[in-house]
Amino acid sequence: MPEPLIFDKSQPGQRAVEFPPSDVPNAGPVLPENLLRRKPPRLPEVAERSVVRHLTILSRENFSVDTNFYPLGSCTMKYNPRVNEQLSGLPEFTGLHPYQFDEDCQGTLAILWQLQEMLKEITGLPGVSLQPAAGAHGELTAMLMFAAWFRDRGERRTTILVPDSAHGTNPASAAIAGFKIVQVRSNEHGLIDLDDLRSKLDASVAGMMLTCPNTLGLFETDVGEVAKLLHGVGAKLYIDGANLNAILGVTRPGDWGADALHINTHKTLSTPHGGGGPGAGPIAVAADLVPFLPVPRIERGETGVFHLVDTGHPKSIGRVRAFLGQTGVLLRAYCYLRRLGARGVRETAENAVLNARYLQSRCPKDFATPYAGDCMHEFVLSGTPLKKAFGVRTLDVAKRLIDRGIHPPTVYFPLIVDEAMMIEPTETERRRTLDWFADVLAEIVAEAKADADQLHDAPHTTSISRADEVRAARDLDLRYTWDEAK
Ligand SMILES: *Cc1c(COP(=O)(O)O)cnc(C)c1O
Repeated sequence: MPEPLIFDKSQPGQRAVEFPPSDVPNAGPVLPENLLRRKPPRLPEVAERSVVRHLTILSRENFSVDTNFYPLGSCTMKYNPRVNEQLSGLPEFTGLHPYQFDEDCQGTLAILWQLQEMLKEITGLPGVSLQPAAGAHGELTAMLMFAAWFRDRGERRTTILVPDSAHGTNPASAAIAGFKIVQVRSNEHGLIDLDDLRSKLDASVAGMMLTCPNTLGLFETDVGEVAKLLHGVGAKLYIDGANLNAILGVTRPGDWGADALHINTHKTLSTPHGGGGPGAGPIAVAADLVPFLPVPRIERGETGVFHLVDTGHPKSIGRVRAFLGQTGVLLRAYCYLRRLGARGVRETAENAVLNARYLQSRCPKDFATPYAGDCMHEFVLSGTPLKKAFGVRTLDVAKRLIDRGIHPPTVYFPLIVDEAMMIEPTETERRRTLDWFADVLAEIVAEAKADADQLHDAPHTTSISRADEVRAARDLDLRYTWDEAK
C-alpha cells in the first residue's frame, strides 16, 4: 500500500516539539494588520516518531545511484566518492559568508582558481567562468557572450544552428538569448550532415551548438571541419560538454577549434544529482571571448593574493548568478579531479567508453541499433522491432526494469530515433552488473514474446504502478484539502 500523505496521518493534538512559553517581550506585530493571519495555518499534527517514519519510508521508495544500477543516458549517474562530500562539507567552507572579505577566504578562492586552471587544461581553452548554475545556464551564458561579441564588432547576427539530435536545452538557451534557431540534419551515420550544414551557413549565422560526442553516443568525427566551416563565415562553435565523460583527458574541444563549451560538473565531475539539482555548469571559452566572461572574476595579484574583481572588465556581460557560483558543487569537482590526477582522469573516460561498448555488445539483438558506429560512453537502442512484433513499447521495457530493481535508461530521446532507449553505464560499474543488466533485458524480451500484457501494466512491485504520465505533468494536484468533517 502506498505510504499515506502526512496530512492523512494527522491526529489533533499530536506534536513533534513542544516549545516553552516565550520569555521575550512581545514587540507587537511587525507586519501591517491586514496582512496577518486570522487563524493559524492548518498543518498536519504528528508526533516526531511519525515524521521520521514517514520520511524514511518515502526515502526507501527512491531509486538512487547508491542503491540501484542507474544507466540513465546523458546524465552520467556515476558513483560519487564520499570523500568529496566530506571535504566540501568542512566547516571552513560551509561557514563562509558570501560577503566575507577576500583576505578572509583566501583558501576557498585559491581552490576555485585552481579548479579554473584544471578546467582550462581539460578543455584546451584559455578562459573559464565557474558562475553558471547548470549546463543549460552555461549554454545561456555563452550565447549571451556570443551576442555581446558580435555587438561589440558592430555585426548583426541572428541565427544559431542546432543539430536535430540536440538536447532541448540547446535551442531553448539560444532562443532566450534572442537568437533564431535553424536545425541541421544528421546523416545516415548519426553524425552532422556537412552538406546540410554548408547550405545553412551565411553571414546571419552567429554560431552552432554541437554536442560531442553527440546524443547518439557517437563522436562527431568531422568536428574539426565543422569548426572550419563556421569560422569561414565568421561564426562560432559552441560545444555542449554534457558528454565530456567520454573524452576527459583524451581529447580537448579547444584543440578541435571550439570557441566555448560548458561542463556539467554534476555529471562528469561527480556531484550527486537528480530531481533538479544542485549542479554547476562552468564554461570555458577561447581567447577572443575572455573579455566578455561574467564578473566577478577571481584574479591573482602579484603577491599571490586572490581577489574577487568586478571592475575593469567593460566588455563583460555582467553577473549571471549571485556571488561565485555553486561553491559546494565546485569544491566537489575540485576534490574529484585532485584525487584522480591526470592519469586517473584519462582512465575515467577510457573505462566509461569500454563499459558502454561492452554492454552494447551484450544487449539483446531484438533491439535495433539505429546507427552502426562504435559508441563512446553511451549508446542508443531502438525498440521498434518489439513494437512491431509484439506491441511492446520502449516505455513498457523501461517500466519493467523498475520491477527488477534497475533505474530505467533515458527513453524517447534523442528524438530522431524511434522508440529510443539511451543507455549509459558509466565507468563506476563492474562487469558483473553490466552482464546482469543485459541478462535482465533479454528476460524482458522473452516476456514480451510470451505475455506482452504483463509488460503493459509494469511496474508491479512498486507502491504506485503505471502512472498516467501526461496527466501527472499537465494536471497537477498539489494542494491538500482538509476534510472538515474529520
Ligand atoms: C544534461 C544535459 C544538458 C543540460 O545540462 P543541465 O546541467 O541539466 O542544465 C544539456 N545537454 C545535454 C546533452 C545534456 O545531457
